[in-house]
Amino acid sequence: MRSAVMAKLRFILGDHLSRNLASLRDIDKDHDIVLMAEVGGESTIVGFHKQKLVLIYSAMRHFAEALRAEGITVDYVSLDCPNNTQSLDGELKRALNRHDVETVVVTEPGAWRVRALMDKWEQNLGVPVEIREDDRFICSHERFSAWANGRKSLRMEFFYREMRRETGLLMTDSGPEGGQWNLDAENRSPLPPGHRAPERLRFSPDAETRRVIGLVRERYPDNFGEIEPFSWAVTRHDALRALDHFIAAALPGFGTYQDAMKSGEPFLHHGLLSAYLNIGLLGAEEVCAAAQRAYYAGDAPLNAAEGFIRQVLGWREYVRGIYWWKMPDYAQTNFLGAQRDLPWFYWSGETDMNCLANAIDDTRRHAYAHHIQRLMVTGNFALLAGIEPRQIEAWYLAVYIDAFDWVELPNVHGMVMFADGGLLASKPYAASGAYINRMSDYCAGCRYSPKVKDGENACPITLLYWNFLIENRRVLQANPRMAMAYRNLDRMDASAVQGMQQRATRFLDGLNAGVTTTNPPLQGELDL
Ligand code: FAD
Ligand code: SF4
Repeated sequence: MRSAVMAKLRFILGDHLSRNLASLRDIDKDHDIVLMAEVGGESTIVGFHKQKLVLIYSAMRHFAEALRAEGITVDYVSLDCPNNTQSLDGELKRALNRHDVETVVVTEPGAWRVRALMDKWEQNLGVPVEIREDDRFICSHERFSAWANGRKSLRMEFFYREMRRETGLLMTDSGPEGGQWNLDAENRSPLPPGHRAPERLRFSPDAETRRVIGLVRERYPDNFGEIEPFSWAVTRHDALRALDHFIAAALPGFGTYQDAMKSGEPFLHHGLLSAYLNIGLLGAEEVCAAAQRAYYAGDAPLNAAEGFIRQVLGWREYVRGIYWWKMPDYAQTNFLGAQRDLPWFYWSGETDMNCLANAIDDTRRHAYAHHIQRLMVTGNFALLAGIEPRQIEAWYLAVYIDAFDWVELPNVHGMVMFADGGLLASKPYAASGAYINRMSDYCAGCRYSPKVKDGENACPITLLYWNFLIENRRVLQANPRMAMAYRNLDRMDASAVQGMQQRATRFLDGLNAGVTTTNPPLQGELDL
């Protein structure tokens, strides 16, 4: 018989969908209750991509069913439940009126904003609230602080080596497998002509996912992105199938073509696993172990296995460490003083810069773009054009299926926008059109040319690149990693530099007025 006195209410959030979650692991199936709630307030923070909403709500519903199948009592509040307050606070409060529980147990959330809410629950709701650390990450908060505190250099590479030593991943008795820690130099090939990207596993929506698609379509018609075709996995079972498929079909080419981009091929050799990792359908350790197994079985080369493990064990754990170590102040910095509004074409995709049009179109259709598109296309443009960090951060949080504050913010604020002044990246990832031309086929289909610096066809990215160096000389020139860029700038003919700067300024003025070509009318002619 149920003893209400001893019951715990276990509040599971939408990115907490792991059976081994800290707040579920010791569940007493006879007494405890799991609370899950689809809350609109969380869904509208930045107007998420429709596919992200479908993924989270559908995965939550499937997870709840799996718990019920185990004999666990789940109190599930759907988005369209008439009494849904659409807030985490409100739903917890209502649940406490429905259930007689002695304690609320939660796992810490993935956003500082929600953590601040949680910290007030005990006082506001008059019930003990136990907030457990999210130990699905390989590096705990304590471990990260121990590594970071007092360090002069917080470079990811040093953190990554410690994580390799501690986990033993790709380690031999004498050091890193193959003798080198990092095979990044072998991760930068463009795609050879005729290269075929592997087929990806697609998951047809079941009846529950179809219901969620209907609900999201009805409630969020104006959110960014296409809702269908929706082909993401929404259960752990299918996420594991996606992992197996990636390891067998795509991992072998992952290392070599990690930085390559191709029109109409958003996925190439990438894992498409970040959303599953971030909501809990897959674990960081298990995906790293799978890549390591493929290497030792001879099914994937070392540059692929190491490259993949570096992303998950290195970058993913590192940005999460930085986030919790530095928040909330981290989000407030704006080292380069960038103030420009986000151009409308980030939402509409309507721009004649083919690289941006492609990356945004992939994003709109799949809620996905791979790392180099995010960093070196949409990110590079935002950096060069001086978009206000807060605005571009909101865009990244809204449009990607895998976006959660702890991972999106450091990547955008630190890695893309250099807004933290170099805490995370040793220099801005600024690039001219030549980089995009080398790594993709975008320029071949563009009305601009990356090699042209003057006239109608001058590539805006190249113009903005030189303009960025000129405008930020005061704060960037002393950075040794920028020395080569400034040497190249200073070798250029002064009148050519002046011409490029004028053209870049005209472009930026046009951007403010919603025009995205390099040849907008001059300010006086604009219909403002
Ligand atoms: P793969 O290319 O297959 O990489 C394997 C895994 O490594 C990913 O699944 C991911 O878990 C991890 N990973 C790789 N790079 C990073 C990184 N820099 N930070 C954290 N994890 C990493 N990743 C997110 O999960 N959520 C985000 O909101 C997010 N925003 C980003 C914004 C910008 C501006 C940039 C430059 C990167 C961002 N990333 C983010 C990191 C990376 O782009 C995505 O993790 C990756 O594109 C997801 O696709 P994938 O699973 O196919 O990755
Ligand atoms: Fe982008 Fe410039 Fe290449 Fe056009 S020419 S695709 S704008 S880099």
